[in-house]
Amino acid sequence: MITVYVKLMGSLLPYGSPEQPGLIEITLKNGATVQEAIQALGIPKERVKLIFVNHTGAFLDQPLKEGDRISLFPAEYPVFTDWEGSILSKGSGDERIREGEMKKWKCSICGYIYDPSKGDPENGVKPGTAFEEIPEDWVCPTCGATKDIFELD
Ligand code: FE
Repeated sequence: MITVYVKLMGSLLPYGSPEQPGLIEITLKNGATVQEAIQALGIPKERVKLIFVNHTGAFLDQPLKEGDRISLFPAEYPVFTDWEGSILSKGSGDERIREGEMKKWKCSICGYIYDPSKGDPENGVKPGTAFEEIPEDWVCPTCGATKDIFELD
């Protein structure tokens, strides 16, 4: 087993644990890749735009070794909004990270539109949260409808 350290940026922070707000220590099997580290944290890999391992750009399929430090930046990190493509898309064997993954959803009762780029901060949903990631007990902030009432906008 190896121990690596992960730093999450921006909207990926909620995937960390409250006990380890800075560097998150995770244990992986020998030869595990960046992608496995991302999976271990429960992060959908399409949320990750840019990866650094020991301060150098890295790909999803990069193998990790004991003590590596991984930094993960989310797709909607402000600095990347004007980026054409992604460093990840150049990796050999990496699946291309699709742009515009997160869609808007509309409350079919009142017409409220959930925009993932804005989230619903007043009700604990951070900007950058995909509709699918919102807790099931979240309700429409204007009419109180449950999540299953929403449809793709
Ligand atoms: Fe509503």
